[in-house]
Amino acid sequence: MHRSRNLPRQRLALALALVLLPVCGLTPAGCGIELRSASQPPPTTEVSSVPSSGPRRLVELPLPPTDPLHVVQGQTVVSITFDDGRKSNIAAARMMTADGLAGTFFVNSMTIGTKGYLSQADLVEIARMGHEIGGHTMTHPDLGELTGDEVRRQICDDRENLLGWGFPIRSFAYPFASASTDAETAVRQCGYNSGRSLGELRTHRPPPNVDPMLSCQDCALAEVVPPADPMYTSAPAQVRSDWTASDLQQQVLDAMSVGGWIELTFHGLCPTDCNSLTTPQTEFGDFLAWLAGQQSAGKLLVRTVGDVIGGPVRPPIAGPIAPPAPPGANGVKNSGLEQLSDGSPVCWLQASFGRNRPEFSLSSDSHGGTTAGRLIMRDYVDGDAKLLQSTDLGHCAPSVSPGGTYTVSAWYKSTAPTSFSIQFRHGLGRWAYGLNSPTFPASTDYTLATWSLPTMPSDVTAVSFGLALAENGELIADDYSLVDDATASK
Ligand SMILES: [Zn+2]
Repeated sequence: MHRSRNLPRQRLALALALVLLPVCGLTPAGCGIELRSASQPPPTTEVSSVPSSGPRRLVELPLPPTDPLHVVQGQTVVSITFDDGRKSNIAAARMMTADGLAGTFFVNSMTIGTKGYLSQADLVEIARMGHEIGGHTMTHPDLGELTGDEVRRQICDDRENLLGWGFPIRSFAYPFASASTDAETAVRQCGYNSGRSLGELRTHRPPPNVDPMLSCQDCALAEVVPPADPMYTSAPAQVRSDWTASDLQQQVLDAMSVGGWIELTFHGLCPTDCNSLTTPQTEFGDFLAWLAGQQSAGKLLVRTVGDVIGGPVRPPIAGPIAPPAPPGANGVKNSGLEQLSDGSPVCWLQASFGRNRPEFSLSSDSHGGTTAGRLIMRDYVDGDAKLLQSTDLGHCAPSVSPGGTYTVSAWYKSTAPTSFSIQFRHGLGRWAYGLNSPTFPASTDYTLATWSLPTMPSDVTAVSFGLALAENGELIADDYSLVDDATASK
């Protein structure tokens, strides 16, 4: 059954919580899917001084065996998986190792090394203990909301990063269990051997307030080995914080009643990492002890996802590159904020950091067309707020050529001084604050703010910029542009 693939709109309607960082949390009813961000992102926290991505090899590991796991009729195999690479996963990996068990850790390469997430050194330790590192996209988007090229960048570039660090990457998990025929094709084309969904098997302890239509209580108890569709393997709903060791045991016992494969999806361990999707460490420990005992008694097998599916570690396949705008063209998409989706300008992101209370809206007081962006800043103490091009992998953010020189501009009126805040995308995808322009004065009439950026650093592949307020006031801005100076001066 491929229920989740038919439900993206329903999940969108169920989205309750707003998050920016790829933290999986609440579960919309029944499908066992992960917390997602709504289509309108909240003001963001500024990213600063994060390690740059790159192909620096961290570890040399032996290649895993390529034979698929052979499971006889009635035999059960369990995979313990952790999604999202949260910091507490390192403790989980050590506990599993102590019990002689190996699992799979699906991580987002762009969050590795950031606050709350595993470091590269943690990943090396996890892999050296014999666990599998798997891919979960660059930044944990809902793949169903992206274009085909951006989907391939999210999946392929993440895998390329992880392979570049030295991990033998074979297995993928869909963020928010949001799969589609196109996404499955991308997972295969990016070189993965499998992709994991959620909520396709009967769940012993379904999430609360489950829609009966989505409860999956008539679903199978285990996936078959080998799966009918390795790019969409079936699993129960993700483990939630209210699952006890006996709930986990029962989920496995249910699978053992028919035989086959069960992938259990955890997110982290409480008390160091507590939310609705993390597991009390004592319950996890009790479950591991039981599981190890069952394996020792020959009643089941515990294997990584990659070892169940088998197959070689395929070479990296780069995602499609988003080229810079052609000579003379404005690189900003939807530059006049005219194209809207659910009331928000397509390809634009509300961003803020520090202590302040920004309010973003649209204004009919436009410079061109019918729409401009309005920002009202209140209760300002420090930081800033601005509307920026979405900080993505190339669909929205304007690509630039390393070593190139560019001029940014926008028409604005403002009750307070404003300046351009410039963010840089480094390498395949890591965004970080770049610099600010000098300030432009307050103006009651539309005025053109224009500024020539310094030469692009060698690893910068895209910019995102906006006019920022760093004091109380009201700013209206419209008709943004980014133009290659080398072309503009000819
Ligand atoms: Zn996730």
